[in-house]
Amino acid sequence: MFVPLGGVGEIGMNLYLYGFGRGGDYTWLIVDMGVTFGGEYEPGIDVILPDIRFLEEERHNIAGLLLTHAHEDHFGAVPDLWPLLGHVPIYATPFTAEMLRSKLAEMSIDAEDLPLEVVPMGGSRSIGPFDVELIAMSHSIPEPSAVAITTPLGTVLHTGDWKLDEQPLTSAPTDETRLREIGREGVAALICDSTNAIRDGISPSEAEVAVNLERLIGQAPNCVAVTTFASNVARLGSVAKAAQAAGRELVVVGRAMYRVIEAAQATGYLDPELYFHQETAFAQLPPHKVVALCTGSQGETRAAMARIASGEHPHVSLKDGDWVIFSSRTIPGNEKAVARVQNALSDNKVEILTDQDALVHVSGHPRRGELEQLYGWLKPDVAVPMHGEGRHLEAHAELAEDLGVKQVIRARNGTMVRLLPQPAEIIDEVPVGRLYRDGTILTSADEGQVRERRKLSFAGVVAVSLTLTTKGELVIDPEVSVIGLPEQDNRGIPFWEIARDAAIGTVESIPRPRRKDPALVTEAVRRAVRAAINQAWGKKPVCTVLTTVL
Ligand SMILES: [Zn+2]
Ligand SMILES: [Zn+2]
Repeated sequence: MFVPLGGVGEIGMNLYLYGFGRGGDYTWLIVDMGVTFGGEYEPGIDVILPDIRFLEEERHNIAGLLLTHAHEDHFGAVPDLWPLLGHVPIYATPFTAEMLRSKLAEMSIDAEDLPLEVVPMGGSRSIGPFDVELIAMSHSIPEPSAVAITTPLGTVLHTGDWKLDEQPLTSAPTDETRLREIGREGVAALICDSTNAIRDGISPSEAEVAVNLERLIGQAPNCVAVTTFASNVARLGSVAKAAQAAGRELVVVGRAMYRVIEAAQATGYLDPELYFHQETAFAQLPPHKVVALCTGSQGETRAAMARIASGEHPHVSLKDGDWVIFSSRTIPGNEKAVARVQNALSDNKVEILTDQDALVHVSGHPRRGELEQLYGWLKPDVAVPMHGEGRHLEAHAELAEDLGVKQVIRARNGTMVRLLPQPAEIIDEVPVGRLYRDGTILTSADEGQVRERRKLSFAGVVAVSLTLTTKGELVIDPEVSVIGLPEQDNRGIPFWEIARDAAIGTVESIPRPRRKDPALVTEAVRRAVRAAINQAWGKKPVCTVLTTVL
């Protein structure tokens, strides 16, 4: 059984369930538990997580949680969601485990008695009724793993995030030999990454990026800053090597970078001897002797690059003739934020280089040519595209059909797919949705506070306070507070006055016997105030009326 609770129909918040059992009685293996990030549509929300009410009901039937790699969209939800599921054991490779521990430490969560079992790269475990084998893949972080899941009914393969790269520069390249063997043994179903299924060809190698970074940094006349995804350890290593080759000192700017570098050094993916300066050293070093490695490639306002661009970073500043290399891709939704940062840099005459100018970034996901190769090795009976938005999933589904896969299942979050015995079939739907991490509180996206915030941002709020006698007479004039509206209308009348007059007029217009009902008066005033403001302004603010009866 395969049930995605997140990650199918979106790129983010991956959470997949594999179930074994019969008659609605299943034991579950959870693969990944990720987050996605809020944008302008979710004001005040940084982190969005999959709704796991289905899993909470099934909490006594969960065999374990397996993490394929340490990207936020695959493991970022563990601190919030894992505690809701009882003491479910977690399985992860050494680097992923190290990143998880450091994430929990950062969030001040005690990881001491975490039931975390470290599985070596390529290792196997029996987790409940599932025989699980990890297979090394290439991606943009160390230790990405595909998972072969075997039950008495057969084997299914879950790719996680992957690409083919013979020189990924971190952990081992995709284990083609083992994948071919598993293919020969028989793969009933392939659940596979769709992110780049609309792109033809084969992704370039991380090694080519390293060559280009070294060339560019060697040519730079002044200070060079490089911004990239902190988790891309191979890239961090390439920048460090390029700096060394150019006789420059490496300065690391941004907390997330330090966290990853420490985890990578602890697990052997970065040379423990690699020397880098803290950001406080930046001002003491001559600019032409520095490479600053910075967080914030997505324009995140609180990250290093945005603060440097706006001149607000306490230790690092760039000026005329310095270079910034965006060794990254702008994730859809972040375009405006990235443009803001780049414009600010450009205003300061800083030279900007992106992947449009040179091969300074490669994706960690398979293009069509790579998908074709994997399907050739595994020859699955059934394909289920995952990890993609609608058009990526559909392009992947059509490709799989063209490649002769017997059955392609078009799943979405919440569909329960029976993979075995075949034929595969969508047999049920389970509840899914989104949770918001709102401040320190986890709420359902359906609760509506974020929808209210969007409304407030569009038209502000008018609050009216009424004080009535038990007979429904106004004791004093209503008090009005107006937030987020223009001061006055086109006639020059202040909005608080319009609201107050509408409130008085409404109370007086209600027949006396009915005025004794405060709920009726409150609602009538609310509607009238909203209508009066709309007439004067052409927009309807949020209106609230608080009534006191003396
Ligand atoms: Zn990933
Ligand atoms: Zn991913």
